[in-house]
Amino acid sequence: MESKLSDTFQFQRFPRFSKPVKKKKIHNKVKTAKINGQATTRLNLRRVIKLLNPPRSRLIKKLDKLFSDYIKKKAKGKCFKCGKISKSAGVSHYFSRKYIGGRWEKANCDWSCWGCHYFQLERDKTPGSWYYQYMIKKLGKKDFEYLIMKVQAINKFSTKEIQLMVKNFNKIWK
Ligand SMILES: [Zn+2]
Repeated sequence: MESKLSDTFQFQRFPRFSKPVKKKKIHNKVKTAKINGQATTRLNLRRVIKLLNPPRSRLIKKLDKLFSDYIKKKAKGKCFKCGKISKSAGVSHYFSRKYIGGRWEKANCDWSCWGCHYFQLERDKTPGSWYYQYMIKKLGKKDFEYLIMKVQAINKFSTKEIQLMVKNFNKIWK
């Protein structure tokens, strides 16, 4: 794209922005650069901005983990289908977690072993299925309808909202 000469030229004139930051060096909080033969120490701005504003994906991951621990604790680690305590287990969502409105909704979630999850629960959620009957029994028809509405109605959380949910997790999920 640009010649070596113009790179050097830009680096000398605008040392802060012209030199591309290598990905693996992002973890260095403080970077030393040699400008005109003199060593200068400066803050890695990208790192600071990253720390102040964690990316959305990391916040979602964090909230997933908090929520998963919460559901596990509530279930005392027991699979709601077979009753066994298994190390390979996780949160089972009746309405898939791709529907963000039900992703962290306790009415929509239970703790299950992966065996039950993949080979039974995920296979059939239609009215009449075991999972459907379980949901009706757990919530009652009215709350089940309310859950459907919530899952359909909420299709977006802002990054700020997710940040607030992470921060106030224990107050919201009791
Ligand atoms: Zn199970």
